[in-house]
Amino acid sequence: MNLWRDIPPGTPDKANIVIEIPKGSRNKYEYNRDTGAIELDRVLFSSMHYPTDYGFVPQTFYDDDDPIDALFFSPFFSVTYPGVVVKGRLIGGFRMEDEKGVDDKLIFVPYEKVFPHQKKASIDHLPESLKDEIRYFFSRYKDLENKKAEFKGWLDLNEATKIFNRAIELYKQKF
Ligand SMILES: [Mg+2]
Repeated sequence: MNLWRDIPPGTPDKANIVIEIPKGSRNKYEYNRDTGAIELDRVLFSSMHYPTDYGFVPQTFYDDDDPIDALFFSPFFSVTYPGVVVKGRLIGGFRMEDEKGVDDKLIFVPYEKVFPHQKKASIDHLPESLKDEIRYFFSRYKDLENKKAEFKGWLDLNEATKIFNRAIELYKQKF
């Protein structure tokens, strides 16, 4: 089976997310959509590690010619593994820009245990320290590869939902 093509994206309230990189990893694993293998793309040049689990929503496609990126933050779960599929509830996102253009990223929390124990969690409920970590990590982790990435701001649930739906539409149009 192919983790990108054969799993539905779900809805913003209960999305499927394929984890490529577990929280704390310095290895950058990437799902090879053609072969279905999880490949070690590289070890981050910077001495930094991913602040949350990281992967993508299946059956989506976005402006950077990749599936839409997804951060999965859970204060409840132990660290996952590459290739694990988790169910997440969308709470927001953020916009990054690099030499290739816009690279939006969505943020999810576990759908059945909403952080912090309420139905409508939003990005405002994330700890400020975690938001600082996320912003810092994604702005700096490519520095030693001589690549620039710029943090362009947080996206609220409304904006993130539009991006989620658009990424599903783009997949349907293309594939
Ligand atoms: Mg991307």
